[in-house]
Amino acid sequence: MEKIIRVRNLEYVYPDGTRALKGINLDIHKGESVGLIGPNGAGKSTLLLHLNGILKANQGEIEVLGMKVEEKNLVRIRQKVAIVFQEPDDQLFMPTVFDDVAFGPMNVGFPEEKVRKKVKEALKEVRMEGYEERCSHHLSLGEKKKISIATVLSMEPEILILDEPTSNLDPGARKNLIELLKNLNLTRIVAGHDLELILETCPRVILLDKGKVVANGDTKSVLGNKSLMESHGLEVPLSLRYLGG
Ligand code: ADP
Repeated sequence: MEKIIRVRNLEYVYPDGTRALKGINLDIHKGESVGLIGPNGAGKSTLLLHLNGILKANQGEIEVLGMKVEEKNLVRIRQKVAIVFQEPDDQLFMPTVFDDVAFGPMNVGFPEEKVRKKVKEALKEVRMEGYEERCSHHLSLGEKKKISIATVLSMEPEILILDEPTSNLDPGARKNLIELLKNLNLTRIVAGHDLELILETCPRVILLDKGKVVANGDTKSVLGNKSLMESHGLEVPLSLRYLGG
């Protein structure tokens, strides 16, 4: 399988001296959907912010789509690696849904007709056609999350990174988002604490704690391992608790 992300010996220390990543090694293959879990402060967000060069490694190496994550490749890498943050209000800032979803493609200079096409396709992918003229800030949280995914899909990324995609959603909106994620046909990394979501959408999971990878493998085996999960401040999800019992 083609490696689409390759991380070797990644170390990162914040300016205040906090050692957030202590020698991370991992590979993500094309078309995979991988969960990233770990207790608060494990280093998940810090790792994700390295994948499109928002943070710069102190040591080690990251390659995305065969390109080293370094200054000269950042424009291309940021087009290909999309991060959807937990809080949609960090991603939506234009007067209308159309403007928000069009922002990326316009910024890279696509002609108007292509921008319109990309917006239409992205809204269709998140099942939000017809919302073009609505004001993003007046939508429900579930709708805002879908629009924030559309704002990155319109750039035709190859890798979609979602940080806590279901946080604060009601059960209906959560289910709706999970169905949508399952149908997106691109390499995905899903980070967060919604372990049922990760079980449902990610065959492989990486468990981080204290800046290190402490498990990397089949999602059911990792999430179902009580002593492993509990020693890293996590719990076996309900749906795996009574297997064989
Ligand atoms: P997670 O996303 O798994 O909750 P983070 O990547 O946010 O973990 O944090 C990893 C470590 O880095 C924690 O110890 C956290 O306190 C620290 N950290 C995060 N952001 C900063 C920052 N801007 N400055 C200093 N330390 C930070």
